[in-house]
Formats: sequence, structure tokens, C-alpha cells
Amino acid sequence: MAKQLEMFAQLDNSEDKRDVPPIPTQLDQLIDLDPDGPEPEEGSAYIALLKGAIPSDDNVLKDYIEIVGPRMQKEYMLRAAKGSSIEKYAHNADQSMLTHVLNGVFPTLQIVRESEVDLSDIEKQIYLIAYTLHDLDKLVNVQRLSVADANRKREFYGYLDEWVERLHFDNFCPEYNTYREDISYLILNTQVKYGADLNPQNFDRQLPGNRHEFLKRMCRFSDLIAYFMKNPASFLERPDISESLTHLSRGKLVFTYHKVSENRGMLTNVINNAVLAEMRDNFGWKPFLFFPTGVTYLRSRNLDDKALPTGDDIAEIVVEKLKTYCASRLEQNLNGFTRGGKGFKYADYYDAFFQPHDMLRLIQKGCFKILRQNKAPSAGKRLVKLQQLQMEGKIPEDISLDFEDDLRVDQLAEYLVEVEKLLGKFASRESVASEILAYLDLQEWHGVFTSIPSQGGVPLPWYFIAGKYLLRNRGKDENDMRDLFEEVTEHVTQVFAEAIQNQPQLDSFAALRNYVKRTIDINGHQHIHQDFQAELVRYTNTKKIGRGSDKGCSLCSSDFQTQESSETDVIFAPQVYSNKNPINSGRVRRGICQLCQMEMMLRQILIRSRWNLVGAGYESVKIKWLYLYPSYFFTPETSKIIGKAYQNLKSLNFFDVRRKLHRGSAATDLVELDEFIIDTETPDTEKENLLKMDFSENDLATFYFCGIPTLGTRPTDTESWAMPTFLAFLSTLAFNAKVVVTESQVPLYHSAEEFKETVVLNAPHPFVTHILQKDRLRIDEIEKSLEKLSAIYDLNIDAFRDGAKPQWQHLNSVSGNIETDPLYVFHYLDVFRRKNKWDSFPKPRNGEIFIPERYLQFYETLGGDKMSLIEGIAQRCFNFYGPDSFNANSILKVIALVENVIINSEPTIDPIDLKWEARGEVHNLMQRVRSSRAQGFARLLQREESTAIEALVNYFYDEVFMKDYKGQRAILRTRRNRLNAGINAWYQANWQQFRKQKNEEATDANN
Ligand SMILES: [Zn+2]
Repeated sequence: MAKQLEMFAQLDNSEDKRDVPPIPTQLDQLIDLDPDGPEPEEGSAYIALLKGAIPSDDNVLKDYIEIVGPRMQKEYMLRAAKGSSIEKYAHNADQSMLTHVLNGVFPTLQIVRESEVDLSDIEKQIYLIAYTLHDLDKLVNVQRLSVADANRKREFYGYLDEWVERLHFDNFCPEYNTYREDISYLILNTQVKYGADLNPQNFDRQLPGNRHEFLKRMCRFSDLIAYFMKNPASFLERPDISESLTHLSRGKLVFTYHKVSENRGMLTNVINNAVLAEMRDNFGWKPFLFFPTGVTYLRSRNLDDKALPTGDDIAEIVVEKLKTYCASRLEQNLNGFTRGGKGFKYADYYDAFFQPHDMLRLIQKGCFKILRQNKAPSAGKRLVKLQQLQMEGKIPEDISLDFEDDLRVDQLAEYLVEVEKLLGKFASRESVASEILAYLDLQEWHGVFTSIPSQGGVPLPWYFIAGKYLLRNRGKDENDMRDLFEEVTEHVTQVFAEAIQNQPQLDSFAALRNYVKRTIDINGHQHIHQDFQAELVRYTNTKKIGRGSDKGCSLCSSDFQTQESSETDVIFAPQVYSNKNPINSGRVRRGICQLCQMEMMLRQILIRSRWNLVGAGYESVKIKWLYLYPSYFFTPETSKIIGKAYQNLKSLNFFDVRRKLHRGSAATDLVELDEFIIDTETPDTEKENLLKMDFSENDLATFYFCGIPTLGTRPTDTESWAMPTFLAFLSTLAFNAKVVVTESQVPLYHSAEEFKETVVLNAPHPFVTHILQKDRLRIDEIEKSLEKLSAIYDLNIDAFRDGAKPQWQHLNSVSGNIETDPLYVFHYLDVFRRKNKWDSFPKPRNGEIFIPERYLQFYETLGGDKMSLIEGIAQRCFNFYGPDSFNANSILKVIALVENVIINSEPTIDPIDLKWEARGEVHNLMQRVRSSRAQGFARLLQREESTAIEALVNYFYDEVFMKDYKGQRAILRTRRNRLNAGINAWYQANWQQFRKQKNEEATDANN
């Protein structure tokens, strides 16, 4: 490992990195630290996007989202419909009530719409209310709701009315009271389990019976589909779902699907998109449910039976889609074009997407992009080198080496060598070079050109030629240069056209074709089958040593051929994640299979990053990948929201969250924190730090993920997990989806079917488990976790921030200490106070919470259970003693005295004597206070005081020292500062209650 790090350190400083946009080391550039920054808008980004995602002509649905949506989000988003940490339900995968409702409503209404079933507005309203409240028993936590007798009926309608009001259904449907019994009939019959309430006589209904039957089917279908559709073909195992579809669509629609057997991230998205477009556009299948591993469609029963595409057809479609995506991105972004010490270079994968002519034009573009006007030329350095060679006698003496140190020399030289290299694959490099020289009318230098050695890969001969050419053709501006390149390109490609044509075409995508054929299943037509024979051969080869050995892929366990990756491919560092690298092999890079290479290439091309994160650059930002999974699918509507939210996703600035929390936003407002990561518009790509997929708006992905880099100079592992951890929790809220955060570029799970939790943090830094106690969290644990993280992060910033730098590297010690003893919260409050050189805490401004008050909340959030002890001490102390200021010494004067007496006493002392001694000391202090020899106030009359002092001393000795500190003086000594800081904070937040008391007494005394 040490050796690897050393290598990266070298790479870091190598000349290769020179022209790469530097990763910022000043966090100040990245964080807007403006306490008076614009107030974020109220309301949630999710609901705003939802409004835009539903069919524009459905007014009932529009009202539902606008009126009920925001309420539902608050009440339903973190409430479990399925799963949760509760043992009874834990075997089910998590699904929030919000998802359970939306994933029932949207598909059902789509079927009704597609099959042109008549549904009046009031019927649609009744359905929406009934299905949204069909889990009323869970909402009110009462089993077996019923209307079978008068008492139970009253109870049921009480609950129903309460929830109708809570979700604003009375606004949504002003006729609610008229149709209340129709609704309750549906609620009690959505699930078959209620059974007994099927008796329609128990309901005074307004709609005719046959309409009820249809609405009941809608409700039941919604419930079935939301819960049982866990993969694109789940309906095959549930005949009741297919039957319901037949009924609801009046026989018009059937289900179809396409499915892939695994999920590799980007590659799987490309495959899914290609197949989806094909089935939708050429077969008329309507996308219905989106899974990471495929799509369920609705197909019209009366569509002609067209033969489904074969495996070869699909493979071709996928390859074409992939080429289109990549070629257009590459043309636009010129990914992987860099200038290293030896010259200009570009990634190998370009050859797979471009014919020689197009490639040359791209290199031209790259040349002018990389070798820009304001860059320093290398021509001068190359000239010195040439002169050196001349002195060594390697270049004839009579040749004048006098070209200029000019960027145009660089551009031309670097371009020409690329032309030579590229066309040299089709004809000999010598012939290509001669042709170029002839075209530039520089044949006279041919001899010198061939005699100059290309030292260490630096194209010195071409620098010589370019220099000579520009000496002869002075005064060319950039446009002239571009024209020249264009002419050279046209000329040479024409000359070598035949050679290019005759070259047999290499299929760069053979492995991909093979893979697609093996993994895709369209409606059972293409059967997925694993190639067990190939797998066995590969496995056997991994055991071989030497020739014919194949170590297998270090990332996945596929049976595809592996080869060592080159640095331009490596946008991540496999050795960090792999445990399969042989020990002492001395190999930094190890083999990865063709598919993982394809995936890496796709991430390089299709994932946008403002930083050039190749090789070591990638390593240094310690990327975490955040993968979003639906629970258990996205509908066309929700996937549109996810797509939009993903595009508008921006880096989280924790200072914004902090500002909101300081204004007293409670945990119930957490759902609104999504505005901190979802912008109202697509963020400026030039300024965005996240690594995001670059799909067009029309091409929705089926699986969303992004990379979170850690910025700053040499970030620690602690820092690298700080934002990704917080984002994981925030993202489940923003996307209403399940989230996995990992360092692995291979998705940990193919689909949401494979894990039950809502948030999975894969092998996070230990600070995360100090705070959360676990790294896999169920839906009912999200809110508490977010509160805890917010508290620790907020506290970390208070205590350790350096200007705009949050200094997350302290999170580990902070969370470790607080886990050991939550009273450490107050220790950090003290650190914060001292750091600011405050004598007492400043008055809150702009409606912010008073600082000590905030820390008392932190203490409880973070598991502190000694609040009653602190209160017990404080109440008894400030009952008789009034500090003269908010300075900690003055507040803690009496308590410190009692503690000192106990700590300094002999362990063998009789407790009665010890208490006497403590009371005496406090009494003396109060005497000095009374005679103004010590600062402070006496709050009680002298005769009342001694009883009060005794109460304090007894409480402290019995409850604090003996019970809590087990009578150990050493424990009291080491922990007293934290305890005292807690008492101080409590007093700061509660002092007014004592003043009031005193005033009342003063009034009493006067009367
Ligand atoms: Zn692999």
C-alpha cells in the first residue's frame, strides 16, 4: 500500500498533470458563506416537480397533488407502509406510505386513461381519497377497524374524519360528507383481510353498486401493484394482478416486459434505454413501471403480433445507441484529451467511435482546445533539445535550427504526429510522413526529418518540420492554422482512402454484443442463460500461474476476458476497493474484465465532471457513489420527477442547512431540506462539483447515480464520508427513493428487491457508526439519523470551523467522545465559547435559537439522559444563589465548591461529616456574598437558606456522586467539567425562571 501511495504522489507532481484543471484546495471558493443569503423558498422541491409530472388535462389529479400532496409528503414520506425496524414488519423491504400511495394511484389512473374507461370527477375523487387512506388502520395504529356495530362505526368515522382533515381532503373534495360512506366502503374493502365489511348494508352509499365494484377494483389493483411488483416480470407470479388489469381495462390491455439480469450502472442504463426506445417506438408498448433492471409495459391486446427482436437485433440496437450517446458526447466535450510531458494525447476508446477522417477532425479540435492561445509553448524547449542533438553530432552541423518559441509550432507539430500515428495504422508511417512533407512543400528536409531521433516519445522531428514550415509561412493567424489543418486532413485521407477501406473493421463491441444477448429477456422471448461453461473455464484459469492464467476481474465476477487497464481508462482506483489483488504482486493496476472496462469508459464519457479526474486525480478526491433505487419501481410520473430532480441536483452546502436549523426548524420540517440539494433550475455545470450522468431530458435513465468528490487539499477519509453520509439521508427525502452510498463503482445491488433498508452506507468511516450505531437504516430510523447527523455536524462547525472550512476531519473524535459520554456536547459548547472569546453567549439574532438552548437540544438528540440530573442540581442551586453575571465561573461558583469538597475529601470520611463540611463551605460563601466580599446574590432569607443548601448538598452527594459516579472521586474529577458545562448551558437558557421567582418574593415581602 505504501508503495502505491508513493506512486500516486509521484503521479501527482508529474508533468502529466500540468494542464489539468486543478482540483481546488481553497474551500472558500466553494462555499458561499453569507449569513444573510437569500431565504430558500418554502415548500418542497419534490411536490413542485410532481405538479409538473402529471398529465396536464387531469384536473382532479392536479388538485390532488396541489392540495393533498404537500400534506401527504409531511405525513407519509417517513411513515412505513411496508418494512421498518419493527420486528413484526422487518422481513418486508421498506416502502414509505407516500410511495405506496403514489405507486398505486399513478399506474391505476394510467390504465383507466389508456383504456378510455369513463370515470366521473367525483368517482375519481372518491377513489383517490379511499386509496390514500386505505391503510387507515396503520395510520391510527388500531387493528381491525370496522363499521359492524354502532360503537365501532363511530370510532371508525372519527378516525376517518381526522385524517381527511389532516390531509386536506375536505378541501380537495367539498362533497366529502355526502360520499363519506362510499369512501369508507372502499377503504374497508381495499384489502381482502377486512372481509366482514363487504356487507353493503352497513353503508349508506350514494353511487350505484356497479360503480362501487369498479372503484373497489381500482383500489385493490393499486394496492397489489404497489406492493407486489418488485421486478419487471413480477406479474407472472401474481395472476390476480393480470386479471385485475383485464377487468380494469375492459380486456384491452396486457402486460409485457423487458428485463436484464444484472445492473452495472451506466451500461445497464444504456441497454435499458435502447430496448425501451425500440419497444415503445417500433412495437407500440407503453412504458408502465421502471425498475433498475428493466421495464414493465402495457400492450394493447389488438396490436398485431409482430415478431419480437432476436438477441442479435437487440445487441445491434444497444451498440448503436451506445455509439450515438458516446460519439455525440465526445465530439462535444473532447473527454480524455490532455497534454502530457511527451505531448498531446487522447484516450484509446475514440477509435471505437470514429472513422479516421472524423477522428482527425476531432484531433484538430482537440489541438486547438488543449494548446490554447494563453498556454506556454513547448517549442522553445524542443529547440534547445534539437540544438543539443546537433552538438552531439546527431543532426548535421549545416542545418540551421532557428525556429520560434511559438504555440503555433506546438499545434502543428502535435497535430502532424497524430496524423502520422493514426494513418500509420493503415499504411506505413514513413509513407504517411513523406506525403505530409510533400504536401507542405518541405521535401528538402526529408533527410533531416528521418535522422532526428524521437527522444523518449517526444516528437522532435515534427517540431523541426513545424518550425521550418512556420518560418517559411509567417504571419498565420488561428483561422489560417485551422484552414491548414483542414487541408492536410482532407489531403491525406484522400491519398490513403484505399488503404483505410481495405483494412478489416474491428468490432470493438463484440463483448458487449455477447453480454447483451446473454443478459436480456424480452417477454420471455430471449431467455437469460448464464454461460456456465465459460464461467468454469475462467475460474480454472484464475487458479493457474504463469501462461494462460487469468486473474479474473478485480471488480466483478464475470467470465469476460480481463486485461490490465491503462491510465486513461482508470477513472477510479481498483486496488482501493478490490480484495482480490494478490499480496506482494507489486501490481498497482490489476485486470478488469471487458465489461467493467466498458462501464468505466462510459462513466468517463457520459458522466459530467468539471474536474479532469483521471488516474491519480480521481484517487485524490475519494469519490463516493450515491445510487438511487426505487421502492420498488418508478412510474412514468415519478421517474420524470427523479429525472428532473437529478438534473437539478446540486452539491449540498451544509452552511445552508445550518442556517435553517438555527432558525428553529424542527425535525418535522426535514422533508423541506430537499431544497438544499434540488435547485429550481439545472445548476451551472461549470460550477457544479457532483459527477452526474449527462443524459438528455428525453432520455430518462432507469437507474440514477452520482459521484460525490471530496474537495480540498489531501482530504482525510473522515472528510470524504461527511457529505456523502448526510446526502444519503437527504436524498431519500428529495427523491423519495432508497439510497446506497459506496466507494464501489459496481452497484452493490442489481435492484431494490435485494435489500430491505432505506439507506445503506457501505463500509463507511467509523465516525458514522459512532453517531448512528449502524450503517443500514430502516425507513423509521431516517428522521432520527438526520437529526443526529445535523447535530454533530453543526457542533463540529461551531467548535472547529476555520473561516469557511467546516474541518470535518474532527468528526471522528467529536462523535467518538459524544458516544462515550453525551455530556461532551457541553464540552464542545465550551470550546465554541472560548474560541470566540465570549464571556457569555451573544443574544440570538434574526429569530435564531439561543446557542445554549441549541446545545441542550443536541444533548437530547444525541442520546443524553442526564438532563433531569442537571436540572435537579441547577434548580436546587439557583434557588438560593444568584450569579452576578453570565460568566461560567460566576454561575458555577457554588457547584464547584461542593465538587471540590467531595473530590478533596479522604475516601474513608463518613458521608455525614462530608456533607457537613460541604454545607459549611457553601454557607461561608453565601455569608461573603451577603457582605459583598464575594460577587453574586442571595435569593433567600437566611433562615430559609440553610435548608436550601442542605437540599443541594444532599442531592449532589446522593444522586450525582454516589449514584451516577458510583462514589468514585476520580470519575467526578475527570467528568466534572462536562457536567458543569451542562449546568452552565441549562442556566443560560433558563435563568429567567429564577428572576421571576425572586421578583414575586420581593412583592410578597413588600406586602
Ligand atoms: Zn468485471
